[in-house]
Amino acid sequence: MANLTLDNVTKRFDDGDDQIVAVDDVSIDIDDGEFLVLVGPSGCGKSTTLRMIAGLETVSDGTISIDGERINHVPAQQRDIAMVFQSYALYPHMTVRENMRFGLEESTDLDKTAMNAAVEETAELLEIADLLDRKPSELSGGQQQRVALGRAIVRDPAVFLMDEPLSNLDAKLRSGMRMELQRLQNDLGVTTVYVTHDQTEAMTMGDRIAILDDGKLQQVATPLECYHRPKNLFVAGFIGEPAMNFFDVTLEEDRLLLEGTSLEYPLSSTVREDLGDTTDLILGIRPEDVELLESGGSVHDFPVEVDVVEPMGNENNLLATFAETDLSINAITEGMRLMRDGERYAARLPESAIHLFDRSSGQALH
Ligand code: ATP
Repeated sequence: MANLTLDNVTKRFDDGDDQIVAVDDVSIDIDDGEFLVLVGPSGCGKSTTLRMIAGLETVSDGTISIDGERINHVPAQQRDIAMVFQSYALYPHMTVRENMRFGLEESTDLDKTAMNAAVEETAELLEIADLLDRKPSELSGGQQQRVALGRAIVRDPAVFLMDEPLSNLDAKLRSGMRMELQRLQNDLGVTTVYVTHDQTEAMTMGDRIAILDDGKLQQVATPLECYHRPKNLFVAGFIGEPAMNFFDVTLEEDRLLLEGTSLEYPLSSTVREDLGDTTDLILGIRPEDVELLESGGSVHDFPVEVDVVEPMGNENNLLATFAETDLSINAITEGMRLMRDGERYAARLPESAIHLFDRSSGQALH
């Protein structure tokens, strides 16, 4: 059980004459037993952050500590941390039992009987006890993944680090394993840092998620807080599928003018107050918050024509264009509702659902 802290952690790589700042002044406090998901697009610095925690990469600046003790210079094998990789990294010439025991032999001084008992107990937990005498080549991808997990769990470490552990599994297996990993983490209560580029994994698995872009931490919060109250444009666009709609707007007195159109969006005084003097803004609204009505009536209703409907069964994902403009909006409606291309509706953008961002800094103002 452990609390893991990153204080102003930076990683610079020398690349000839250039320096790449892969991780830029990142601070995160991960609670004992917490499941923290580190998420962001390719190249944002997730793996480098994890590798610094594991001790596989040096820290250029800042401090990493476990339970208040600085571990920057503690060798990887002495960190009481177990890592699960995307590639599983199982030894092909060893059986499952030997693969799992190998991790123990490196990290503990248990006798052979105690090690075998620990391996068998973990194998039971992961439902791979009947595979213990097989070689990795005789296992499916999902089974290999369980063995890789088993090898980490059997060591009973203070911290688990997982680098995209489910990305080699097919979609169905992945969603099953996602739940199983959460169940295991709940049962074992081991502090876990889990890296993924998949926002669905981040939303469903994390107690909190830490969103990185270009080496910089954008927001650390619960999944629902990131969804409902994104701190900036990047988080707003990254979290949520399909992505939030964004429109360039200009503030004039107490209304927003949608750029390139003659549409106006009046604001209540409470929303207006949040904007201060900033006039160049971006209005964001999630597709699931757009309402398509047979006929409008409120000041936040705008005529649209449907361009494309994708019936998904449980919902319709559709694209519509505001009348007399070439501005489109993505909306989601109930699957039971039959909708067709060319139909006209009033798109309601409820004021309670809109997000407003400063166009130059990207920061959320409302
Ligand atoms: P992905 O999801 O694609 O694995 P990531 O978010 O894990 O990406 P990192 O692998 O941490 O990203 O890389 C962050 C940045 O650091 C990238 O620009 C990458 O090219 C650079 N980088 C990583 N390792 C090295 C290295 N050993 N030498 C030079 N640059 C590196």
